[in-house]
Amino acid sequence: MRFDTEPGDKVAVPWKLVHAGTQTYEPEVSPQSGSAPAAFGNLDVRELKVNGAVLRIVLLKGKSGYDPDALTGWIQQTTRNLLHAYGRFPNPQFSVFIIPVVDRSRNSDAVIFGRVVRDGGEAVELLVNPASTIERLTRDWTATHEFSHLMLPYVARDERWISEGFAQYYQNVLLARAGQYTPQYAWQKLFEGFERGRHSMPNASPDEAAASDSRNARMKVYWSGAAIALLADVELRQHSGSAVSLDTVLGNFQLCCLPSNRTWSGAELFAKLDTLIAEPIFSPLYERYADTSGFPDVDGLLQELGVRVRDSTVALSDEAALAAIRRQIMTPRDPGEY
Ligand SMILES: [Zn+2]
Repeated sequence: MRFDTEPGDKVAVPWKLVHAGTQTYEPEVSPQSGSAPAAFGNLDVRELKVNGAVLRIVLLKGKSGYDPDALTGWIQQTTRNLLHAYGRFPNPQFSVFIIPVVDRSRNSDAVIFGRVVRDGGEAVELLVNPASTIERLTRDWTATHEFSHLMLPYVARDERWISEGFAQYYQNVLLARAGQYTPQYAWQKLFEGFERGRHSMPNASPDEAAASDSRNARMKVYWSGAAIALLADVELRQHSGSAVSLDTVLGNFQLCCLPSNRTWSGAELFAKLDTLIAEPIFSPLYERYADTSGFPDVDGLLQELGVRVRDSTVALSDEAALAAIRRQIMTPRDPGEY
């Protein structure tokens, strides 16, 4: 695809650059929808090199002023958050589009909306309130959530409890590892999320909740998947004396299978993850919970981890059997351990 533009105007598309002089790009597959983010004109385009990955940051300037250095710093921080999973970026080449949106009705949110777009290339799109300070942007979890999505391929929409759940789990884990949440706060957020998930469409299974596409089912979709991610993480650590965790499995999955430009089914993804470990853990969790009504059984597990709840407030106990695993989950590793 070749672009002819006015001098000074820039092109930003999530495709492979073939020739800069003629602005020629090669989409890996033809875009299937109008969703592929493409921006033309008065843009600020920057490249960020992160542990072997090249991240292209595309800032749409808009009419309202903002500080491009601050926004770049925030994306850099989000990138560092993601490196706390397995030390590498899931996609060695992808774009982040930052779109300023003045939203006076919801000015409490620094990031108004975010999504991953996988159409002709992987990109994250973030709608940002340009009046936000860098501190408020950094405290907002949306960007870390969207970046966490990149650790899994696109999973069929009627099973999106998997992609949403894993991103929901990781956003809390990564923000704790990065020091932006205390461990207590991260467990508090997980506990509150599990409660919301439990009360959302209580009789539906994760599959039914995702397939229903109902607003009432949203919390079931997001938090049932997060509960399954926690169950898998703890089981992996328990079976391996903490040599293996969800981080290491997803790291190995990245080496074999990411980035992927096709849709995966939940059963296929979980079966693939099981090929990366000694004994299957993922497929049994899938078979047990994907189509079972109610909410995955995490109460006993939280007890064992020493996550104690009184009057809806979490306190952490080091007396619990799995307290060491609880601490590991929220603690950053040394860079040499990846
Ligand atoms: Zn999401």
